[in-house]
Amino acid sequence: MTLFEKIIARKIPADIVYEDDRTIAFRDVNPQAPTHVLVVPKQVIPRLDTAGEGDVAVLGHCMLVAGKVATQLGLGSYRVVINNGEDAGQTVFHLHLHILGGRKLGWPPG
Ligand code: 5GP
Repeated sequence: MTLFEKIIARKIPADIVYEDDRTIAFRDVNPQAPTHVLVVPKQVIPRLDTAGEGDVAVLGHCMLVAGKVATQLGLGSYRVVINNGEDAGQTVFHLHLHILGGRKLGWPPG
């Protein structure tokens, strides 16, 4: 099981802010902004570059959920990030979108 599957299965506790049949969203344990939430598809896709045509619907759904959750949490401006691969900072190989907001965000990111 991936770490995030354990959260989905309630084997590891998390501060869950949204859940539906295809996704779960919970607060990051090591927040990089005042609001830092992860949107995770329940179906395991290890990385963005391992996604295929059959994943289009769930990927699109994750994007819609990210927008919905950000609004639900009162964010107007925010960033949605996918880290793909170790050099990009990916540490959990179960695809997820980071929602970062609640402070001014620099660009380009580090
Ligand atoms: P990545 O580095 O793969 O893009 O993002 C993984 C994220 O998962 C990191 O921001 C990290 O802080 C978060 N994370 C790692 N372990 C846990 C955990 O047990 N609970 C929660 N809520 N977040 C976690």
